[in-house]
Amino acid sequence: MKEISALNQLIRDMLWTSNLFQYKVEIIADNPNPDVLKDNIIYVVGRDSYVKWAYLKCPSKCGDIIMLSLIKSKRPSWVIKQDKIGRPTIYPSIRKLDGCRSHFWVKKGKLIWSNI
Ligand SMILES: [Zn+2]
Repeated sequence: MKEISALNQLIRDMLWTSNLFQYKVEIIADNPNPDVLKDNIIYVVGRDSYVKWAYLKCPSKCGDIIMLSLIKSKRPSWVIKQDKIGRPTIYPSIRKLDGCRSHFWVKKGKLIWSNI
């Protein structure tokens, strides 16, 4: 995952705080404590060169934590890319198979509900 310049991070945080998009990425070294995860942040565990997991709170507000494997050799796995100012895109879509059964996309930082 590419590092974002300090200036672009500043721009990103301004736009994110103004709700112009919903999600930003925080890269962390170790698995997070699920109790302290904030809404609208995708926590990516790893380093810039090697990422393993992503954690995010389910956008349905059910309170569940969604874990995504980013390890390419294992299925299923997801890819997270950031544009120049750090708006993340995740693919494929994220579908919860239990609980609230949310199905959504994150594209350029925006949450897009899937209706299928
Ligand atoms: Zn949910």
